[in-house]
Amino acid sequence: MNDALTRAWRASRPACSGGTVASYIPALAGADPSALGVAAVDAEGRVYEVGDARRRFTIQSISKVLSLAYVMTELGEEAVFSRVGKEPTGDPFNSIIRLETSAGRKPFNPLINAGAIVVSSLMPGDCPADKGERFRSYVGGLVGRPVVERDEEVYLSEKETAARNRSIAWFLKELGLLEGGVEDALDVYFRQCAVSMDAVDLARVGAILAMDGIDPVRGSRAMAARTARVCKSLMVTCGMYDGSGEFAVDVGVPAKSGVGGGIMAAVRDRLGLGVYGPALDERGNSAGGLAALRALSDELDLRVL
Ligand code: GLU
Repeated sequence: MNDALTRAWRASRPACSGGTVASYIPALAGADPSALGVAAVDAEGRVYEVGDARRRFTIQSISKVLSLAYVMTELGEEAVFSRVGKEPTGDPFNSIIRLETSAGRKPFNPLINAGAIVVSSLMPGDCPADKGERFRSYVGGLVGRPVVERDEEVYLSEKETAARNRSIAWFLKELGLLEGGVEDALDVYFRQCAVSMDAVDLARVGAILAMDGIDPVRGSRAMAARTARVCKSLMVTCGMYDGSGEFAVDVGVPAKSGVGGGIMAAVRDRLGLGVYGPALDERGNSAGGLAALRALSDELDLRVL
């Protein structure tokens, strides 16, 4: 496994130079575009890593899978899916257009911004700070720490500049889909996006999903099987932005990426994978990370689709 990881990492490093670091959230612009880390956790809980696998970054949209799992755990499936659909859109992650034009008038799925902001608004807690903290404890529980950190600079940077997400949230309010106020829902969302983790952490959560909720590192259940399955299904259809179809064909495993450069993947009964490479392709997916996952899928025959 170590050799496979190292080969995939080495072969994928040149792909980083074909991407660009996200800058629409100003604090993300300083990331090192040549960074690339790959990590795996297998069914026995063994951890493998190469390159920048311990470099922390903000998980951004990967948090949408974690907030979905968290709110499903706390409030049940119906609380989420009465307000958010399960269908892919083929539109960019921050698109607003279908909120007005689709018949159902609810976000298509929880992995686009509109759906994720609804899910954030449902999190339990007294105020955004409390909700954010409880969420970080939940994620910490998945990766074996009391709590995961938040990158304060990235959090504030997004909060100060998120005109598009504000538009989406106001639209959601008008549709009656938000629990509580608009700024509160956004604040929780920005907090969850600014959670900082590394590729090894992502591989650990990926492994829990891969094992239908059993944490192979601790050998105990960390998440209901149904929750893990719902998350994985949505990752297959909606996890890689409007590149999800191509990713399903090329790599063939459930995965979720974020504009911070992370990708988390789950290979049923076999592996959790985490990659970090902040240089992004034109769809917002890590260029080096995609190359590494393609290489690993080929070499280890990971396709489950
Ligand atoms: N916080 C980011 C946003 O809402 C997340 C985007 C992403 O990673 O796709 O724009």
